Amino acid sequence: MPLSTKSSHSDTSAPRKRVILAEPRGFCAGVRRAIAMVERALEVYGPPIYVRKQIVHNHYVVRLLERKGARFVESELDVPEGAVCLFSAHGVSPAVRAGAADRNLQVIDATCPLVAKVHQQARRVVRDGRVLLLVGHQEHEETEGTRGEAPRETLVVETVEDVERLDLPRDTPVAYLTQTTLSVDETADIVRALTQRFDDIVGPGTDTICYASQNRQNGIKSLARQADLVLVVGSENSSNSQRMVDVAREAGTAARLVPDVSRLDGGWLEGVTTVGVSSGASVPDALVHQLLDRLAEFGHDEVEVESTAVEDVVFSMPLQLADGIRSDDRERLDDAWSKVPPDAPAGTPRRTM
Ligand code: SF4
Repeated sequence: MPLSTKSSHSDTSAPRKRVILAEPRGFCAGVRRAIAMVERALEVYGPPIYVRKQIVHNHYVVRLLERKGARFVESELDVPEGAVCLFSAHGVSPAVRAGAADRNLQVIDATCPLVAKVHQQARRVVRDGRVLLLVGHQEHEETEGTRGEAPRETLVVETVEDVERLDLPRDTPVAYLTQTTLSVDETADIVRALTQRFDDIVGPGTDTICYASQNRQNGIKSLARQADLVLVVGSENSSNSQRMVDVAREAGTAARLVPDVSRLDGGWLEGVTTVGVSSGASVPDALVHQLLDRLAEFGHDEVEVESTAVEDVVFSMPLQLADGIRSDDRERLDDAWSKVPPDAPAGTPRRTM
């Protein structure tokens, strides 16, 4: 191998600082559809449009939609009688639907079809007389919504230890389902523990972790094998983003969640040659571009894209909005959300190019 020659312009003996950018990353089909539904509802009904909870778990998306006329509320009870109210991509319980009906709200349901499918499965297993063991995080909105299908027959299981603590006889007929955004590996351990704990247990086949969570976690595993540090762009309340950080750490690589570029700490990059970058399923690419710009300022200015899967999933709009913006207008949405607008919220400075 030839020796490198030092010059005043470059130091070829220095390690090459680079970024490996995961593909796929960012918006999944359910998030694209939910955002398109808010935008379309604003056009059809005019502002304000009320949205119960964050439409998707990303502060930047929420703040920009607020500027367009969306009002985010914690409960359907906070929505004026008769107003238009969107349910978020995470889904809601039947009790929330009933509460909205009592207030004569015009409901637009942006529940991701993959979450809606889990609700359907939950209703079926309880109808079959089984106790539902829902593998998920107690406080997550998706878990709240699914558990709400049959609160008396559902137990939420977060860990393998929770399985051991279940106060049910071994021969109880049970069924398990999983939250869509969990860690694939951790969930496999819990499901294994459940199948050892109960004699009469049925499941959905594998798990109900969605394709987007699985793809992003697979991408992270690949980044973790090559990088010294993995950065995941995503909000703190985003389950799938947090799981991506967990997956990198479990693979033995340092990893950080970066809600926006202002949270990047230069100290994390000391001694780091290769940075892996990805983003959660609710993150617009504008935030990833801002992070790449900042990493370039720290010398990590070579970006290699690594593709580990091809995503072409598209969910159609509900009939009440179907004649307008279509959720399969993927390029338009991705393009719009990959640029930082001039009036971007604080904490998300414009990309310098
Ligand atoms: S992360 Fe998965 S379940 Fe959640 S909105 Fe996206 S596709 Fe649907």
